[in-house]
Amino acid sequence: MKHSSTQTATEQCPYCEGTGYFQLLLGGSETCNKCNGEGQEQQA
Ligand SMILES: [Zn+2]
Repeated sequence: MKHSSTQTATEQCPYCEGTGYFQLLLGGSETCNKCNGEGQEQQA
């Protein structure tokens, strides 16, 4: 039996959970500098 589940090859940034930015408690948002706002883990 073969499972045809589609898996995403792109890994989400663990710091911003793929959103590309952090939500600030004081209001507004800050761009995640771990992925440069891409929301995806940068592969060197
Ligand atoms: Zn990020």
